[in-house]
Amino acid sequence: MLLLSALNQLEGASLIIAPGEIAIFANPEAENLGILREGRIQSEELLASIRVVRRTNLKQNGTIEIARGPIGEGKREITVDVIPLSEGDLVLVLLRDESEAQRVHEVRRDFVANISHELKTPIGALSLLSEAVLGAKDDSEAVTKFASRMQIEAKRLTDLVQEIIQLSRVQDSDPLQEAQSLSVSDIIKEALDQCRTTADSRKITLSYDQTQDANILGDRDQLTMAVHNLIENAINYSPVDTNVSVSTSLANQIITISVADQGIGIPEAETERIFERFYRVDPARSRETGGTGLGLSIVKHIVTKHGGEISVWSAENVGSTFSIRLPIQIPKGDEK
Ligand code: ADP
Repeated sequence: MLLLSALNQLEGASLIIAPGEIAIFANPEAENLGILREGRIQSEELLASIRVVRRTNLKQNGTIEIARGPIGEGKREITVDVIPLSEGDLVLVLLRDESEAQRVHEVRRDFVANISHELKTPIGALSLLSEAVLGAKDDSEAVTKFASRMQIEAKRLTDLVQEIIQLSRVQDSDPLQEAQSLSVSDIIKEALDQCRTTADSRKITLSYDQTQDANILGDRDQLTMAVHNLIENAINYSPVDTNVSVSTSLANQIITISVADQGIGIPEAETERIFERFYRVDPARSRETGGTGLGLSIVKHIVTKHGGEISVWSAENVGSTFSIRLPIQIPKGDEK
């Protein structure tokens, strides 16, 4: 049929819906959106529009929200056109993920405002320190002291800029669009290797209980960065001679990666806010460890974009456990 070959060449997702709301055609993009299960449309909003089109025989358009995965709050906003076809009560549905561009624009605007504020601190310190160096140019001891503080501030600035770039990359990307199949245990091992030097310098042992593994779909660098950030925080907010342990568990096609420490913990009232950009419980301590306040918001973005969610359990002076839950890749043929 001419229409089908045209739809197969169109960019974006398309469906043809027969009476009984059954999809008799879905192009690969439509399958990837996860809007169908066993040929049936999962979105009540879309079903409602299809019914209106059948009743009125008039084209409808609007936006609908669909979940990125079976858990978590990650949503995609999709623009839909529902068009009546004359042949046998069929309805054509065209779906596009355009609203993502609008969201990225809004997020970036807020982000720029936060960044300008955060950059002012180290830049202000550098300018004061350089004045102090000039003022003390005949006192070599003072010059050494100010210059080494300048080095610390310059490093802080570099880390901040690096994390800002990482966060904006994560915010702009859609890891599910070019997803690779990845083994969770490979990701954890790589993240652990990256953190080993810091852990050794703080006499913290890293352990990994490799009981359950699964494959997930996503971006290797981003997922490794997420696990890395959790391990690095666990190390930074723990006293020397303690243990940081990573473990996994699998249930209902969801894998949970947990990072547990025996550290300072987080007051209950703060556990919601720590995922916000630039939020730190104790800015002085975070400054000491070189924290930027961006690590956890990077993790949250990555996990949400992979259709998962992050949670934390914590008790002050006992420790914290951060858990990432991600949908696993279901082997072909096992889909229910
Ligand atoms: P930072 O760069 O300051 O570590 P994050 O976004 O990674 O920023 O974390 C935000 C805040 O959450 C930290 O400043 C710290 O107060 C708290 N936090 C994060 N992880 C832990 C942990 N494992 N134990 C105790 N506090 C933590």
